[in-house]
Amino acid sequence: MTLPMTSLSDKKAHFVLIPLVAQGHLIPMTDLAHLLAERGVDVSLITTPTNATRIQPVVQRSTESNLPIQFVELKFPSAQIGLPDECENLDQIDGNQFLPFFEVYNQLKDPLEQYLLAHHIPASCIISDGCNPWTAEVARRLCIPRLVFHGPSCLFALCNYNTSKQDHLTDYSKQFVLPDMPLTLHFNKENEPNSFNAPGWEKFRDDVYEAERTADAIVLNTFEDLERQFIELYEKGIGKKVWTVGPLNLYNKDEYSKSLRGNKLGAEKQEIVLNWLESQEPKSVLYISFGSLARKNGLQLMELGSGLEAANKPFIWVVKEAEITPEVDRWLSEDFEKRVQQQGLICRGWVPQLAILSHPSVGGFMTHCGWNSILESLSQGLPMITWPHFSDQFTNEKVVVDVLGLGVSLGTEALCWIPAVDDETIWVHRDDIEKAVQKLMGEEEEAKSMRRKAAAMADNAKKAMEQGGSSYDNITRLIESIMQ
Ligand code: UDP
Repeated sequence: MTLPMTSLSDKKAHFVLIPLVAQGHLIPMTDLAHLLAERGVDVSLITTPTNATRIQPVVQRSTESNLPIQFVELKFPSAQIGLPDECENLDQIDGNQFLPFFEVYNQLKDPLEQYLLAHHIPASCIISDGCNPWTAEVARRLCIPRLVFHGPSCLFALCNYNTSKQDHLTDYSKQFVLPDMPLTLHFNKENEPNSFNAPGWEKFRDDVYEAERTADAIVLNTFEDLERQFIELYEKGIGKKVWTVGPLNLYNKDEYSKSLRGNKLGAEKQEIVLNWLESQEPKSVLYISFGSLARKNGLQLMELGSGLEAANKPFIWVVKEAEITPEVDRWLSEDFEKRVQQQGLICRGWVPQLAILSHPSVGGFMTHCGWNSILESLSQGLPMITWPHFSDQFTNEKVVVDVLGLGVSLGTEALCWIPAVDDETIWVHRDDIEKAVQKLMGEEEEAKSMRRKAAAMADNAKKAMEQGGSSYDNITRLIESIMQ
């Protein structure tokens, strides 16, 4: 079935955004929805009931401000893969459940098609996450232009695109240098930078490549001054327009927006976290968080705690609910929290990360190198300690450490696609943690130079998003290109 044709003149812009149901994907696309709506575009943001509940206050704010965004809830078929009804986000499951989760997601095809057919304004385009290849069929059936949104760095998108040409390689131990790259990057078949590089994922990975190959254009959460050389190469290689529209986090200007972003639970922690930060010296605090999916086992948490304590610098450390076993709980409440009460604040569960990073007391970020976390850090002029855990994080780290010189690497090298709690290969010893913290938060010339460079990068990031900046203009041109 095809949509009724409308003439260009009476066509109102209606962009349909379809994020992956994971925090690192939903959050930037929600920001993008707001940026498009502020330019007068009608936006439908497709998500599921649990995810909509998390961002309910954001939805309410958009409605109160009369922004033309419709948050559409399509039921996620969790029960079909034996998950509880409200289980609709990757942060609610273990890594070994990822594949069935991704596979069952494509059953939203029919409800999506019905929504699009029933909507009073025909869809001008679909912007769909790179991990949602199922949307390609719907777009094709309804003759709607489709753009792929990639969450990771452009360097990762470029590596991923170039590794897709390596299919002839069958010897897993054989090293190759990734072709057509401005950096020399060595990989073998086992650790190549490919999101879905694991047995069983072959069909899904091919669908993802095909959906990228057949897309009309690409949208990236990055900006020209940050990744110019990779953007040019990726655009040339893939042979279609690449719109860089970030850093999207800069859409959020006031404390409340920053705290609500992604999960209303952030607002509940806002007061305690910001009050604690108020009591600290400017630029003195290290913020430690590993995103929404990476989980550490108890031993590694204790090792990290020992390293932080030994470094003797103020810190805020986020420990996820899923990491708090009875043993970890005992260690935290009966031992560690008491020992470091003058030095640091330990937060359990979701925190308002953007509000924390933008507080003047924060001076550095120990991160797992999720691309959103990196952009949020750079947007606030904060250098990083890098500890990648899985997937694109190893490649994103190269942007921070090797390309920009804005990070102290903890040296984890494994490259695996699925987060693993007991992965020994990303283990870091307490002494290395202590040294990295001393280095980043210290007064040596190297640390000072990183701070200066990070501050300059934050200025560039802000300029990119302001009127006349590269990302601002790209959003204008993206809308124009779709409406023509
Ligand atoms: N985040 C947050 N509070 C938390 C944990 C994460 O606000 O307690 C946000 C963080 O600011 C970022 C996103 O969740 O916007 C995580 O995305 P990222 O790409 O950094 O990592 P992922 O979760 O995808 O591994």
